[in-house]
Amino acid sequence: MMQISIVGGGYVGLVTGACFAHLGHYITIIDIDADKVHLINNGQSPIYEIGLEQLIKQHIGSELRASTKFDSIASAEVIFICVGTPQTPNNNIDLSFIKSACSSIGMSLTNNISECCVIIKSTVLPGTTENIIRPEILTSTKKSENEINFIVNPEFLREGKAIEDFMHPDRIIIGNNESYSKYFINELYEKIPAPIIYTDIPTAEMIKYTSNAFLATKISFANEIGNICKHLHINAYDVMKGVGLDHRIGSQFLNAGIGFGGSCFYKDLSALILLAQKNNENPILLQSIIDINTRQPHKLIALLENKIGDVSDKYITLLGLAFKNDTDDIRESRAIPIIRELLQKKAHLAVYDPMAMTNMRQIFPDIKYCNNAIDALTNADGCLVLTEWTEFSKLDTEFDVMKHKVIIAGRKILTCKGVEGICW
Ligand code: NAD
Repeated sequence: MMQISIVGGGYVGLVTGACFAHLGHYITIIDIDADKVHLINNGQSPIYEIGLEQLIKQHIGSELRASTKFDSIASAEVIFICVGTPQTPNNNIDLSFIKSACSSIGMSLTNNISECCVIIKSTVLPGTTENIIRPEILTSTKKSENEINFIVNPEFLREGKAIEDFMHPDRIIIGNNESYSKYFINELYEKIPAPIIYTDIPTAEMIKYTSNAFLATKISFANEIGNICKHLHINAYDVMKGVGLDHRIGSQFLNAGIGFGGSCFYKDLSALILLAQKNNENPILLQSIIDINTRQPHKLIALLENKIGDVSDKYITLLGLAFKNDTDDIRESRAIPIIRELLQKKAHLAVYDPMAMTNMRQIFPDIKYCNNAIDALTNADGCLVLTEWTEFSKLDTEFDVMKHKVIIAGRKILTCKGVEGICW
């Protein structure tokens, strides 16, 4: 069993740490956010992710601990980098968290007496590990180059299913096909039954961007087809059922709706587009994926306006704020541009989400947050459904409390009658 330090205890780092602890490794999660560290050490999860708090409670104080200090790096055999790689205002990748983490890791590695391994799980563009991460760490440490092994191991987990995805991945990508990397990787992942694909470092970095770009393409493609189907009175879901059963296509990520959100697709696509342009390519397909995604929220509001007219001074209910079900994450949630546009049009908003209201309050403190769907729906002139939470599938007579029963679904989750879908 290995001594592992995980730098960055967010969605990826905390799930990785809790799962490796469950597999018997000794884990220290290092995060600069003292509140997060305090919560983890108290057996609580700072994020909502199914099964995560249970794992933390089970292993904290034995296989798992958290700290704001980098001391554990001195005795770590493996150091995972899991800090965020958000986007800069001009859509490039922001490497400031990576650089700062690398300099702290480098300094603490000086005292590390064993041969160790730095594994990059954060999503970084091809070339970043070789041109930025490796030199940043090596200039801050007194350890020599051949004492530190650099491996890229991109993460593919889905929020809401992160533990299941970590324990049962479709594949494990390892960027570093030198023989020594196989020792660390076999030790780490021996209990996880998945094919391991070894590549060179930039290829592994590129696999992550290509996967995300392809998944986002499927969604925007389904939305484009869905928009056409809507005009033709054809159910886009029936179409995609027929299409997705073709094993060359696959049935996942073909659900038409208001588009993708989440912390990854938009920023990774944007960074890939810029990388392509820097290399004198014009990535028109990648750009159109973003354009379609940006268009869908406006379409939903246009449908609502078609039914109830000008939304100014009308009472609109939004059900769902998280970017997807089973998470409290609102990063790039489609609810954000929808709220922004409705507020700009002077609508009154009452919203409900089972998990994401605390996070959304930080962006929109002045809209009405309700404790349940009925409170949010009472006296409303219209309702928009924005997240496919299972509890929404049971709503039916609850909509009777609305002043005008106009229900427009951006996600196909409701089963009651009288609902108009964005693409169906
Ligand atoms: P996050 O923002 O939830 O977590 C990042 C954590 O790193 C935060 O807790 C932050 O406090 C901490 N941090 C920042 N700088 C630090 C430093 N110098 N030292 C120690 N801790 C530091 O991010 P995330 O969603 O976990 O994503 C992490 C990376 O994984 C990103 O590159 C992302 O693109 C990638 N990824 C994310 C997902 C996902 O579903 N969230 C899936 C696959 C890959």
